[in-house]
Amino acid sequence: MTGGAGYVGSHAAFALLDAGYRVVVVDDLSTGHREAVPADAVFVRADVGDRNAVAEVLRGLDVSAVMHFAGSIVVPESVEKPLDYYANNTMNSMALVRTCIEGGVKAFLFSSTAAVYGAPDRVPIDETMPTKPVNPYGASKLMTERMLADASAAHGLRYACLRYFNVAGADPAGRAGQSSRVATHLIKIACQTALGLRPRMSVFGDDYPTPDGTCIRDYIHVTDLVAAHEQTLTHLLGGADSFIANCGYGKGYSVKQIIETMEKVLGRPLPVDIAGRRAGDPPELVADSTLLRKTVGWAPKHDDLEQIIRNALDWEESLIRSGRLVPAE
Ligand code: UDP
Repeated sequence: MTGGAGYVGSHAAFALLDAGYRVVVVDDLSTGHREAVPADAVFVRADVGDRNAVAEVLRGLDVSAVMHFAGSIVVPESVEKPLDYYANNTMNSMALVRTCIEGGVKAFLFSSTAAVYGAPDRVPIDETMPTKPVNPYGASKLMTERMLADASAAHGLRYACLRYFNVAGADPAGRAGQSSRVATHLIKIACQTALGLRPRMSVFGDDYPTPDGTCIRDYIHVTDLVAAHEQTLTHLLGGADSFIANCGYGKGYSVKQIIETMEKVLGRPLPVDIAGRRAGDPPELVADSTLLRKTVGWAPKHDDLEQIIRNALDWEESLIRSGRLVPAE
């Protein structure tokens, strides 16, 4: 897998090892952490766009499937540095797909995103709805989806694009979590505020066309997302056709509801400001995940916002205890 030193990738590495797979992680550690990679995985420090390095891994370890988690994921950063996003998410993915086809990889799982839909006309969103990204992040991922479709038609690579909604939470067993150096995601920021690592937090916009005026997202526990990958892997390696599927619960929570749930878990209020809108944010993203459920038999097991928040908070506390926490900006 690529990106196995990152948030979703490190959880996937643990789950795949638990299930008896051999796992090799290719990661350049630009945002990931070496210590996030399970000890039982083979680790190769390389850029996924480095075709020689990746080809050597595929040859040397007889890799049958690739999960491509590596990528840049911060929506506002993509608005400021679009070309970095096309370079990392699109061009590096192109190099990787080419290397995988040449290396005889049989199945390719791509971490795509709900951001490919842009600001959809209605929710829940199903996969037949138009893809009209409203930020470079979504566009950079959508281009890779298109490349995979064309490369698959021409070269027979079986692939799945899993369109993640908002991934959150942490391994309930405490082995992995979100360790990004600079926190930008809502639940991580709320955890850091709860633990006193930030003096306060902001709600970015309360004038959206939603019931309480704040943006609505579909938060999926990382453990359920990783289970979707395992089931997709079995499905593709069993000879099934390529597919594109949403990964979410079909339930939306507003920014205010997330903060309220955090306050409930904590038993005290959080210091919160109302700030202006953040660039590139669509008002509401909620998944229709019928296709994933039907195609691979996925069923969520951690569909509980309080559990998501508790697991995230436990992980953040463990980072503080272990001294691995990088201070907020
Ligand atoms: N958000 C917020 N305050 C923060 C971080 C995020 O109000 O400190 C909002 C953000 O504007 C968006 C939602 O929370 O409406 C989810 O943002 P996040 O960055 O977690 O995920 P995204 O949906 O952008 O991938």
